[in-house]
Amino acid sequence: MHPLITYLNAQLPAMTELLTRIVSLESFSADKAGVDDVARLIAQELRSLNAEVTIFPQTTTGDHVLGVFNRGAGSPILMLLHMDTVHPRGSFAARYKIADGKMYGPGVFDMKASHVIALYAVQALQALGQMPRREIRTLFTSDEEIGSFTSEALIIEQARGAQLVMVMEPALADGRLKSSRRGVGNFTVVARGRASHAGGGHERGINAIQEMAHHILAIHALTDYQRGIATTVSEIQGGIAHNVVPDRCEIHVDARANTQADADWLTRQIYSLRPVLPGAQLEVSGKFERPPMECNAERLAIFERMKQIVAPILTLEHGPSGAGSDAAFTAPIAPTMDGLGAVGDGLHAADEHILLSSLVERAAMNALILQAW
Ligand SMILES: [Zn+2]
Repeated sequence: MHPLITYLNAQLPAMTELLTRIVSLESFSADKAGVDDVARLIAQELRSLNAEVTIFPQTTTGDHVLGVFNRGAGSPILMLLHMDTVHPRGSFAARYKIADGKMYGPGVFDMKASHVIALYAVQALQALGQMPRREIRTLFTSDEEIGSFTSEALIIEQARGAQLVMVMEPALADGRLKSSRRGVGNFTVVARGRASHAGGGHERGINAIQEMAHHILAIHALTDYQRGIATTVSEIQGGIAHNVVPDRCEIHVDARANTQADADWLTRQIYSLRPVLPGAQLEVSGKFERPPMECNAERLAIFERMKQIVAPILTLEHGPSGAGSDAAFTAPIAPTMDGLGAVGDGLHAADEHILLSSLVERAAMNALILQAW
């Protein structure tokens, strides 16, 4: 058996216990106190591994935590993690359990198991005297699930100059790495008309909701599953009273694309919407906040090298992810691979869980990559 696997197998009870502690600290993105509790625990764990720890205090979201090993040595690797989850406080007690070799709990798969995997990858290398002489940055952010508005600049700063960015998001089914990510765009469309009485002044009104109805259908018609394009009008507001022709309607558009070319095309289509009703006005704002990460030749080369490095312990595969991640920010500036976290299922769902055995396997995998890259 590989020495990393032997060491980590012995650590599995401690890894399970640490993961339980992290999952019990519920950390919904909007719950700053909850995310900060996780940040404090992570900072403490990093310090116990002799990392140099920096806290980046935030006002509206949880604080970000950076742990650096071997500062200034060799060419740096960045491990990228997030501490927030999509689960509001109060779901831990009902959902947490260990059964059939799996741990269930809010955020356990996305991505608290990854915290344990990253920490124990370093611990295993230290314990076996195999820590590479290179800078290892571990960045734990607080707002990935809501678009990384406060962490984007820090992520880009830490990824710059890195020889590899290991995005510790959950793996695909069967442990496949995520070699491409869909881009995520957020757009707002506002239609303006003219208010009037719905009875007596009907002909003088310009109905903003009626105007928007045309655009809702036009936006949905852009969806093309074969091209990997999906558009969703996900929120709508308009109107003030039963008997008033509405003068304002606003929608939110969630847009997804697999390639930068399609993201640009979709952006152009949304910005080229024009008013249909005489006298109506239309305003469009927004953009692709997370550009697509494409599975290009560079990504395939990174995958092939990782596959070779980890061959002594497992056979690695890769595939596409339909969701976005912070890999979108690092892929344009540094070699990036995603999906290095745990194996499990039920992402963002009530039955979210991981395979406990994957804590050992994935920590060993990440340790090998840190060492050999
Ligand atoms: Zn995630």
